[in-house]
Amino acid sequence: MGRWKNIEIDYQKDIENYCTLCGAILLRRFWVNENKGKELNFCNPECERLFKDYWLPKYGKKS
Ligand SMILES: [Zn+2]
Repeated sequence: MGRWKNIEIDYQKDIENYCTLCGAILLRRFWVNENKGKELNFCNPECERLFKDYWLPKYGKKS
């Protein structure tokens, strides 16, 4: 199951998160889900759905 994640803006750390599907920069609040033990970040559940329905079947078969 995925979950919403909030990031505290911390200028000491230079963390940048990108959507796994569309590559958009994620700020403040984004959707997180795990795939094979690896945390994946998305804009929202819709991006995750597209990733699983479209991207993984097409490009994710190698592993
Ligand atoms: Zn996205």
